[in-house]
Amino acid sequence: MREETKILQAIPVDELTGAVSTPIYQTATFVHELPGVTKGFDYSRTNNPTRQVLEELLASLENGHAGFAFASGVAAIDAVLRLLRSGDEIIAVDDIYGGTFRLFSNIYERFNIKVKYVDTTDLDAVSAAVSEKTKLIWLETPTNPTLKICDIRAIADIAHEGGALLVVDNTFASPALQKPLQYGADIVVHSATKYLAGHCDVIAGAVVVNSEKLAEEIKFIQNATGGVLGPFDSWLTIRGIETLALRVERISENALKVARFLEQHPLVEKVNYPGLASHPQHELAASQQRYFGGVISFKMKSEFIQDAIRFVSSTQFFNLTDSIGGVKSSVSHPVSMSHKAMSAPARQKAGITNSLVRLSIGIEHAEDLIQDLEKTFKKIEVTQAEKIA
Ligand code: PLP
Repeated sequence: MREETKILQAIPVDELTGAVSTPIYQTATFVHELPGVTKGFDYSRTNNPTRQVLEELLASLENGHAGFAFASGVAAIDAVLRLLRSGDEIIAVDDIYGGTFRLFSNIYERFNIKVKYVDTTDLDAVSAAVSEKTKLIWLETPTNPTLKICDIRAIADIAHEGGALLVVDNTFASPALQKPLQYGADIVVHSATKYLAGHCDVIAGAVVVNSEKLAEEIKFIQNATGGVLGPFDSWLTIRGIETLALRVERISENALKVARFLEQHPLVEKVNYPGLASHPQHELAASQQRYFGGVISFKMKSEFIQDAIRFVSSTQFFNLTDSIGGVKSSVSHPVSMSHKAMSAPARQKAGITNSLVRLSIGIEHAEDLIQDLEKTFKKIEVTQAEKIA
């Protein structure tokens, strides 16, 4: 069965009523027929029929053993971190999502969990960082906002040789593009808020694991700590996933056209998009991703921060937002938005300069998006001319 069909087949018709849309079981508790005798549900923190449909769908999407739905991507990440003990170490991709960085440094370091940040495109650097305390290697690929690609299979081997687990935050690619468990990862996490749900209307997170042992542990943590996704938000996420394959394909086609347009534009210094032959890991991306995704970043030639700010504030079809992965295109300025909390030297090292602009491409017509960007560059050209005058 092909991906597009498999996704829809993994959403069952409701057995009780024949409803084609998964019913929203908006209930906290379920009646016991006799004490301890239930229809498989007793309390919605532990299990809920709507969430269960989503969790089985997530497992199917990622070719995993079991899936778990959480109240946010951060809650999903937090659940995975609770597998650790005091004294354990994590090796993490250096340009990690800021919220994960905050969770590692402001919460988990307090519990004596150390994190080593490494350029995970450099396999020797990853190997060199492993110690007997390393319990998790934490990857994002593509990374945000510089779109670096990491070799999942090679890093899974390094993790396993060192007795650690590989976790991949698959938010930027989505399972319609990339299935990390297939390349040896043990756990996948998602901000389902992004491509999975796809419409910027819900905050949700997911964990998918590759073994019964990890499934039992995450199930225990999910119930014990309680950061579950509610029934209505589970339903919204299921509904979003129904069109995931279609959206991500169109988004990726549009993004490649936009990236090619940007690459030849005289006001652009450099474009980061794994679908371009000029991307240093283009071949690797092509070998582990079905398409190249919807996020592009580019450096403007002008070093003036005001020009980048003016650019992101002047587009017509791109909403100026922090988030990515919706059907509508969006634009952001990482230095003054998503990566504001990062120190200036750390940003510089990661290539997040004042002139960097990030785009999340949607499902609009690519030509409209390109014309909008063209017009926006013209406005910048005018201000530059005024500056010179
Ligand atoms: N992981 C990545 C890569 C993200 O970009 C985000 C949010 O932007 C998260 C995790 C956190 O997800 P949420 O905002 O759903 O908690």
